[in-house]
Amino acid sequence: MANITEAEIRKIVENIVRSTSTESADKWTSTVYQGRKLIGIYADMNEAIDAAERGYKAVRAMTVEQREKIITEIRRLTVAEAAVMAEMGVAETGMGKVEHKRLKHILVAEKTPGTEDIVSEAKTGDNGLTLTEMAPFGVVGAITPSTNPSETVICNSIGMIAAGNGVVFNPHPNAICVSNYAVDLVNRASAAAGGPEVLVCSMVKPTLETANIMQTHPKIRLLVCTGGPGVVKAVLSSGKKAIGAGAGNPPVIVDDTADIAKAGKDIIDGCTFDNNLPCIAEKEVFAFRNIADKLIAEMKKNGAYQINRAQADQLAKIVLVEKTNKAGKTVKTVSRDCVGRDADVLLAKIGVKVGKDIRCIICETDFMHDFVQHELMMPILPIVRVNNIEEAIDFAIKAEHGNRHTAHMHSKNIDHLSAFAKAVETTIFVKNAPSYAGIGFGGEGHTTFTIAGPTGEGITSARSFTRKRRCVMADSFKII
Ligand code: NAD
Repeated sequence: MANITEAEIRKIVENIVRSTSTESADKWTSTVYQGRKLIGIYADMNEAIDAAERGYKAVRAMTVEQREKIITEIRRLTVAEAAVMAEMGVAETGMGKVEHKRLKHILVAEKTPGTEDIVSEAKTGDNGLTLTEMAPFGVVGAITPSTNPSETVICNSIGMIAAGNGVVFNPHPNAICVSNYAVDLVNRASAAAGGPEVLVCSMVKPTLETANIMQTHPKIRLLVCTGGPGVVKAVLSSGKKAIGAGAGNPPVIVDDTADIAKAGKDIIDGCTFDNNLPCIAEKEVFAFRNIADKLIAEMKKNGAYQINRAQADQLAKIVLVEKTNKAGKTVKTVSRDCVGRDADVLLAKIGVKVGKDIRCIICETDFMHDFVQHELMMPILPIVRVNNIEEAIDFAIKAEHGNRHTAHMHSKNIDHLSAFAKAVETTIFVKNAPSYAGIGFGGEGHTTFTIAGPTGEGITSARSFTRKRRCVMADSFKII
């Protein structure tokens, strides 16, 4: 009890108030929203899996056109209710920005691929015809994060349903109400489009124990995990087919050929989007020494506030806390009271008062500083001066810690761009744009909130949740 923080006490009280006020029209819990019971939410993981299996059987019996109708309705409801989920997400988790969360939901609604992503292949030759189809796995068990909670539930649901699967979610406990709201939205869309009332399922109270039941249940054929290193490791050790979308720590290199004014703005725009919660967001900058001052000046024009080294060290002691891991080793981990918080709130913790126009904290550090080495997920951006492209690439790769997740570069030198892109081996590499261009927001290509680097599916979509099946007709069905 001695170590409990004021914010933790506030959260516990809020949860108690919410959970004891289900009759009130303006309250919500993990099972009720404004007096309406959420559909598809179960107290028992085994029951949820059975319900998801019934959902799977219903999807299998549908035509592709029927599946697409449900997905169209999911898209419509997601746009219509984006603001509700955005507000709920911020209120429940205390993290992120309402307007940015609203935009993330609209992105999911508009740019997550549906059934068009499922494509069959035919091969003909002297020996006849061979058909390869993308078939569903069956019931998918999905673990979702607190950082993009309802966005991930809806994005996963669209892709998994398009692929013909049923889904059971074990959402992050800190974002359970908004995650279950999204599960209910998918089920409402299903019912409205002529599908089953319960198509996807979730838990009243997800825990590590319910996650464990899911990971070992014989009816779960595929696990899809979006979260930090601990949970990705857990699902990859499950013995089942698993898709792991894990942590990143995206570096940015800015060289002296870049458009510095644009780089300064793009980096701050990307770094502060939803208060740095997206795993792809800019986390540390390696700037060529001869343009660093100008870059910092441009960042300040775009809502950045620079702190000095002593202040950076002071803030680091607050945003990172020491914990003892399972092996008995002391490790630094991000303080949950600081993740996704506004820049002015973080600055106030070291006694600096600024207005809401300040959206990012910048500071010059050396390479080994905690701000460079840790995935903070808050609008704090360390800047390290480098002497040349070789040093920049070397630092950036080391800071990325082999996650091979996302990296960014601002440059007009194609040799530099190519050298970094090749060397860093990330799933996403964004050139001369804010990080979110990498998930289709102001950049080409589809979106996802499950970027599967460790297991290789990359920017996941419906086809990632399928298994290939072959059908061979020997010596016939060839028309030439
Ligand atoms: P987290 O790792 O704290 O939790 C993710 C989920 O896993 C939650 O539902 C949690 O309850 C559960 N969980 C944690 N440990 C578990 C275990 N051992 N077994 C089973 N379940 C377990 O995630 P978070 O803090 O909400 O999200 C932030 C992290 O996720 C960051 O590291 C971020 O980079 C990463 N992330 C990655 C992607 C991606 O697409 N690659 C997307 C979003 C977030």
